[in-house]
Amino acid sequence: SRIRNKPWADQYLKDNDHIVVQEPFTHKGTWKELFNEDQPVHLEIGTGRGAFISGMAKQHPEMNFIGIERVKNVIVGTLKKIIEADVSNVRLMNVDAKDLRDIFAPNEIDQIYLNFSDPWPKSRHEKRRLTYHTFLEQYEDVLKTNGNLVMKTDNQQLFEYSLASFSKYGCIIEEVSLDLHALEDPLNVKTEYEEKFSEKGQPIYRCKVRFPE
Ligand code: SAM
Repeated sequence: SRIRNKPWADQYLKDNDHIVVQEPFTHKGTWKELFNEDQPVHLEIGTGRGAFISGMAKQHPEMNFIGIERVKNVIVGTLKKIIEADVSNVRLMNVDAKDLRDIFAPNEIDQIYLNFSDPWPKSRHEKRRLTYHTFLEQYEDVLKTNGNLVMKTDNQQLFEYSLASFSKYGCIIEEVSLDLHALEDPLNVKTEYEEKFSEKGQPIYRCKVRFPE
């Protein structure tokens, strides 16, 4: 489980430093150099156990992927999936999304994914939601002009909150689906949470937004 201590985690992350970036704050403006190919860079925030980023990396060899996950005992799961998928277009970091601006230079990222982010339902925890305006400011900074943020969730409250937050911020909401799986998109890569919630018959929400120019 995610709270069990994994003393081998540090070593496992270090042993795979071709995937896990050891000093994430030293590559600002030069992320392209860490990849074999010079191609668009997509960022997933909160990779969990890595089903999405490993699936996307396999499906899209023409893109580079960066995954960040703040819980060490969870990111080891992402790493395991990347190794199993045998892909070379992914880099991972054990960092918090609150520091994005110190990690990436303006315009360095082409697209951002938020998948099943923690909902933080209590209003006193609003600031922790990954769609709170302080996070949106960071996304806007690191994203290319006209870059997109794509969000999926099963949580109606978080989804509604996020749409309102995007709108208030001045974002353009390009796509909204209130039942993603009804679209039967064969290219949709499911996350672990997505698999779990859709098995229970819950609808999955998705939106795609663009920041104002
Ligand atoms: N995206 C996965 C999925 O859909 O299966 C995991 C969803 S889980 C509910 C949310 C994940 O985001 C957790 O692993 C959590 O540690 C991570 N997370 C939450 N806030 C974060 C932050 N500020 N920076 C980095 N990771 C974060």
